Amino acid sequence: MLDLAIIGGGPAGLSAGLYATRGGLKNVVMFEKGMPGGQITSSSEIENYPGVAQVMDGISFMAPWSEQCMRFGLKHEMVGVEKVIKNSDNSFTIKIEGGKEVQAKAVIVCTGSQPRRAGFKGEDEFFGKGVSTCATCDGFFYKNKEVALLGGGDTALEEAQYLANICSKVYVIHRRDEFRAAPSTVEKAKKNEKIEFITSAVIDEVYGDNSGVCGVKVKLKDGSIRDLKVPGIFTFVGLDVRNEILKQDDEKFLCAMENTGQVSVDLKMQTNVPGLFAAGDLRKDAPKQVICAAGDGAIAALSAMAYIESLH
Ligand code: FAD
Ligand code: NAP
Repeated sequence: MLDLAIIGGGPAGLSAGLYATRGGLKNVVMFEKGMPGGQITSSSEIENYPGVAQVMDGISFMAPWSEQCMRFGLKHEMVGVEKVIKNSDNSFTIKIEGGKEVQAKAVIVCTGSQPRRAGFKGEDEFFGKGVSTCATCDGFFYKNKEVALLGGGDTALEEAQYLANICSKVYVIHRRDEFRAAPSTVEKAKKNEKIEFITSAVIDEVYGDNSGVCGVKVKLKDGSIRDLKVPGIFTFVGLDVRNEILKQDDEKFLCAMENTGQVSVDLKMQTNVPGLFAAGDLRKDAPKQVICAAGDGAIAALSAMAYIESLH
């Protein structure tokens, strides 16, 4: 039986792995279906991680994280986890793709979240090269430049205001005339002179060249096309939390969840199921930043170690 199973190898999972192994746990496996690193590896530049003054691409930034963990004995199994189940003796069963099962005394779930893709032409091609889902991360690259933004929810209109503080203009493209965002948020955004709303409109295409995005073609209500010559487009069309491994056969979740689909945790990253922890973008109120996910992972590992110790 494993002492600890960590599911997901992004900043939260890797930090949990580092703290657990360096803290003396011997039998720790991180189940990560791809190469470790998480969603930040899709970013072309990260410049807001404290202590790392050099601007780096996401892959180079994350490479030393796994190297450091492995040095302390963390094992990486490159497999997808299908389900986590609680056993009657309070241990957990990790069901892995292909039918394999592993038992663990404690589990930290760090499967993150995934910004939903909107589905327009050019979105995948230019993702990370002008198409972004993170204004806090990438807004600064467009300082004093015009940008476009897609979506009409709270995230979209809040982020539009954040970008308006940095950029010369923000075009908010939304498919309806009504907004999903709170009325007060809509009102505030409408008062911002740097924001122009283009409503009842959809993105026809995002185009560019080797250096990245050069513009966005927007299809208006009357069928005409408006060509916005912007180097960046931010899409905020909702998030998909990767919580499916916590779903049981009866479709209920193993632990308490928020309405957003995020996992309810306390300040120790403990769920309401003893021995089950959640960290990073997956947990409630996550600020969705690498530094926060890393901090969560460290907290969850320390809590898991205390839990395992309490079993003796
Ligand atoms: P994730 O990074 O999402 O990692 C989760 C991992 O779990 C993934 O590797 C996934 O493969 C794995 N996984 C999921 N399900 C399973 C399963 N069933 N079995 C096995 N493995 C599984 N933040 C910043 O602080 N600064 C930035 O500049 C910045 N830029 C960004 C740019 C982009 C384009 C994006 C998309 C995000 C950016 N972020 C940035 C946000 C940051 O990447 C996230 O907040 C952070 O990665 C969350 O870490 P996490 O470990 O919780 O989850
Ligand atoms: P959201 O509420 O689901 O809004 C997504 C927006 O994207 C909607 O306006 C939707 O349009 C649009 N959209 C979806 N798919 C699209 C597509 N394929 N193409 C174009 N547009 C598309 O997501 P969110 O804004 O990220 O918010 C998620 C949750 O967090 C919500 O419950 C929100 O209230 C909450 N939140 C709260 C706060 C706050 O309280 N301050 C801040 C941020 C988020 P339609 O409206 O036409 O469906």
